[in-house]
Amino acid sequence: MKTQTRVVVIGGGIAGCSTLYHLTQEGWTDVVLVERNELTSGTTWHSAAQVTNFGMTQTMVGLKSHSIRLYKELAEDPEYPINYHHADGGIRLANTERVMEGYRHFASMAKGMGVDFEVIDGEECARRHPLISTDNLIGGLWDPLDGDIDPAQLCQALARRARKAGAEVYRNTPVIGLTQHQDDSWTVHTTHGDIACEIVVNACGYRVNEVGAMMGVHHPVASMEHQYFLTEEIPAIREAGHRMPLLRCPISDYYCRQEKFGLLVGFYEQGCKTWGMDGIDPNFVNALCPDDLDRVTDVLEGAFARMPALTEVGIHTVVNGPITYTIDGAPLVGPIPGKRNAFCIIGLRAGLGEGGGHGWLLAQQIVHGEACYDTWVIDPRRFTGHANVELTALKAVEDYQNEFRFHFPHEHRPAGRPMKTTPLTPILAAEGAEFGTVNGWERVAYIKPAPDFHETHSFRFTEAFDVVAAEVKAVQEGVGLTEVNGFNRIEITGPGARDWLDRMVCGRIPRNEGKVGLGYLLNHHGMVKAEATLANLDEGTIWYGSAAASVYHDMDWLTAHLPKDGSVRLRSLTNDWTILVLAGPRARDVLQAASRGDWSAAAFPWLSTRRAFVGIAPAVVMSVSFSGELAYEIHVPNASLYAAYLALRRAGEAHGLRLFGSYAVESMRLEKGYLHWKADLVTEFTPFETGLDRFVAMGKPDFTGKPALERMVAAGARRAFVSLVLDCTHAPAHGGDSIIHEGRVVGTVTSAGWGHRIGRNIAMGFVEPGFAAPGTRLSVEVIGAPVAAEVVEGCLYDPENVRVRA
Ligand SMILES: Cc1cc2nc3c(=O)[nH]c(=O)nc-3n(C[C@H](O)[C@H](O)[C@H](O)COP(=O)(O)OP(=O)(O)OC[C@H]3O[C@@H](n4cnc5c(N)ncnc54)[C@H](O)[C@@H]3O)c2cc1C
Repeated sequence: MKTQTRVVVIGGGIAGCSTLYHLTQEGWTDVVLVERNELTSGTTWHSAAQVTNFGMTQTMVGLKSHSIRLYKELAEDPEYPINYHHADGGIRLANTERVMEGYRHFASMAKGMGVDFEVIDGEECARRHPLISTDNLIGGLWDPLDGDIDPAQLCQALARRARKAGAEVYRNTPVIGLTQHQDDSWTVHTTHGDIACEIVVNACGYRVNEVGAMMGVHHPVASMEHQYFLTEEIPAIREAGHRMPLLRCPISDYYCRQEKFGLLVGFYEQGCKTWGMDGIDPNFVNALCPDDLDRVTDVLEGAFARMPALTEVGIHTVVNGPITYTIDGAPLVGPIPGKRNAFCIIGLRAGLGEGGGHGWLLAQQIVHGEACYDTWVIDPRRFTGHANVELTALKAVEDYQNEFRFHFPHEHRPAGRPMKTTPLTPILAAEGAEFGTVNGWERVAYIKPAPDFHETHSFRFTEAFDVVAAEVKAVQEGVGLTEVNGFNRIEITGPGARDWLDRMVCGRIPRNEGKVGLGYLLNHHGMVKAEATLANLDEGTIWYGSAAASVYHDMDWLTAHLPKDGSVRLRSLTNDWTILVLAGPRARDVLQAASRGDWSAAAFPWLSTRRAFVGIAPAVVMSVSFSGELAYEIHVPNASLYAAYLALRRAGEAHGLRLFGSYAVESMRLEKGYLHWKADLVTEFTPFETGLDRFVAMGKPDFTGKPALERMVAAGARRAFVSLVLDCTHAPAHGGDSIIHEGRVVGTVTSAGWGHRIGRNIAMGFVEPGFAAPGTRLSVEVIGAPVAAEVVEGCLYDPENVRVRA
């Protein structure tokens, strides 16, 4: 066994084997995989191993497509062919028009990734799958490339190719400890000796937290018991003369595929069970949980009704095994938060279908620091401190119960809520607030007009449309107040703070005390990594503020680039402070009435900051606006939040102050052309391609990502960021929808919604540069149907910024 290598991948299921193989493909061949037993002896060996292209984001579709391409190539390898039923086709069923609309949206999104889905009616579903009835069926989504693979052969094929390229695989070699050294390198302790390495990868399936504990980390991953059964032969299958397509049913929560000339049917029952919460038997190897078909009787009935042939055959095998889930159903693939040189590929609940793609994206991240797609949807840093073991288990159960039911826009499911709150949460709830969650924080979406008001989540405009219109109007004409909790806030101090930050940000940073500015951070490929509000406070203190979801992500990036001499210090204030946003033409009057001092435009102009008291509450006030109206961000320590809120409410009485929420903010920021991190700001594009030219100072001697950005600029823009107005009033576009020119996809929507002040349906997105000029006529697929669209200037409301300066 080697005693020194570059990367040690721990775990020899699909996750580990795919990572090892792809590391060699990226050019790192001095790499090792250690497996405590035999390859695939965790979950992988007994997987139903269905392989679909379906995903709810373009990143997921892209990585699944990679799996399919790779598996096909492996299956056709004459030296070591493997069993892969490629392109049997698969149907995701639907019995409501609302779900069909979702499928149309997902089909449009997949089209942008070169993947062709088809939305078909119930009769067509039955024509393609002769065993199903059309009762209670409207139609479905057809994935032509759906199939299934032999999981053990797949892993062996990947390991074999990796070995051929120079990697080594050590079986029956449990990892029993991990030590990290001063230089961030690791020693991996195994029962067969130690291996020194630069980087470790946790790919340990349901044992993820045993290995996590060895590095002092708890991963938000929980296991669920999951069952399928295999039937005896069904004559109609043999008679059909073709393989049955796969089925996934969100109506009755099961899936089904052909196995030999019978069926394999798997269930997602409501009375489901977590597994291994209090530790896992060390001898649970190549093992299964006891059969428990009684648990799935509710779901069985639905499957039997859809496929009557099931009632006529016997069941010959039941498989019940652990399957891992995270808090949002997507896996954790990328850097382990708070650790250096440590990565994970865990929480895979569809690891066979996705594993090829996840290993590909992880290997790219390890070798190049970033992958070809923006990987935020699978980034382990998207969950923060709230993602404890109890919450993970609750969300895992909820996710399992809703396995095939995608989230509708704005849908935030109830398990484990409220998670993170401020002292204002119950007060705002009593005011009628409807909440969504942002990184676990309960954030006001809108104020319900009546206690029994209910929004039906949909891909169309909902009942909340008029409610939001009224909130926007109140902000535009008077003054509104909203809470923005969980905003990521890092205090930067130390003698080297300004110069260091200047190198981290690609534009100018506010050098004068009392000034605020927007800064963009690039990665080493010259792509947009982070966006921050930079406030130059007094006494050499800078506040770095960014999206609530970015807490771990941004801290990791900043920490990794800190000077070694201790001249810059970072301190997170995120959990201790909350923002109250006061917005609208009367905002100054309210602030002036609530806070001593001169708040006139002359004394405190746009983009200023100062410490002050709001009532008796200490605060940091910034004159910045995400709404395009005169606005103040009032940052208050949580202990004083209620006091500040009361002071503003009282001062606001004379000015008709109204509460508003994030839906209204979203409408207004779209009109202003302001961008959202990880919707519009992604690592796939440079700041120039993202339309951020005015925030880049190429004249600066140096900043992170500058050499790469220069190369990208020289090579020419690949995409351009645009705003569009759509000729349509029944629905907004949604992130991922395709932008079309003469039948060809020329771009993708990143965010969209109704602009209530301008009365237009707005979409933003990236298009091929030739289609970016204002006035260009395109179409955007809204719920799968093309609607006319026109490229417009980015800022559609008060482009001169008169109102924010008023
Ligand atoms: C019944 C069932 C049906 C499924 N059907 C499908 C499907 O149709 N399609 C699909 O895509 N997915 C399906 N899945 C899920 C899929 O099987 C898993 O997502 C996938 O197998 C997980 O692979 P993994 O590599 O992450 O974990 P595992 O396969 O569990 O591999 C982890 C490996 O790490 C090793 N390990 C653990 N601790 C150590 C240590 N200390 N030292 C060294 N090695 C260690 C283990 O021995 C194990 O081999 C199904 C799962 C189940 C249970």
